[in-house]
Amino acid sequence: MKCLQCGGERFDKKKMRFAPEIKGEHVAVSVLTHVCHECSAPLMDSEQMNHLRRVAADQYRRMHKLLTSDEIIKFRQALGMSQIAFANYLKVGEASVKRWETYFVQDLVQDENIRLKCDEAYAESNALEVHWKTHPADIYSGKRRFNWELFKQAVCYLVELTRSPLFLNKALFYLDFIHYKRHGISVTGSRYVHLEYGPCPDQYQNLFDILLQEGTLTAISHHELKNSVKADLSVFDDDQKETLKYVTDLVKNDQGKKLLEQSHEELAFKKTHSMQIISYELAKQLKK
Ligand SMILES: [Zn+2]
Repeated sequence: MKCLQCGGERFDKKKMRFAPEIKGEHVAVSVLTHVCHECSAPLMDSEQMNHLRRVAADQYRRMHKLLTSDEIIKFRQALGMSQIAFANYLKVGEASVKRWETYFVQDLVQDENIRLKCDEAYAESNALEVHWKTHPADIYSGKRRFNWELFKQAVCYLVELTRSPLFLNKALFYLDFIHYKRHGISVTGSRYVHLEYGPCPDQYQNLFDILLQEGTLTAISHHELKNSVKADLSVFDDDQKETLKYVTDLVKNDQGKKLLEQSHEELAFKKTHSMQIISYELAKQLKK
């Protein structure tokens, strides 16, 4: 190995900063390289070069919230697949998998594809999203399409008073049904199911799981939840705030114990079969 600048043949190893260009962006990384002992010019061998490309690609991926090479390898290994089997599973060429596991940044569509086929929680929340988005605003959603942001803030706010999912679910039910009774439209667009323990938002466990995963909620115990961030009430309009205030008054003294009992007496609950979705039509006969 000879220095390209001065022809020197003695080299030291040193960490240096580089900013190679990836997809039109300069990505700054520090990696080990040979440095000429005489003139300090850097000179990389092919192994160091490959390392630089991979480190820079991973840095770019982190900046753009894409899976890193290691994360892709971990997903493949979790499935117990070779690179060929993994490529077939993702319906891409084997060369793509080899490159993604090293220096080549996968595009957004492929990143999504990998997550959908490798990350169970991601696939589940995606299925849930499809479920909401394709569900019409009908009498079972209180004439509103499910609104994730409103649901999230309502949970965040009401969980502070109710703490237990059991009471929280009833408070959400009353929030949506009382609002429908008053204004002909629900607050969150949730659908409510007749469960043994009263009316509950459809798929509430999955919904709460997402809130736990993203750090909006914390589980104190199996029966107790806590909000980790303060509810943002600015997402609600004045009418919605008024109904929220009304439900707050109903639950604030006893966390919603009375509300739980009462929910079992509502026609909306009694007239709906077990496991069936409750029609907002029945909100008109609400006792509260
Ligand atoms: Zn030199």
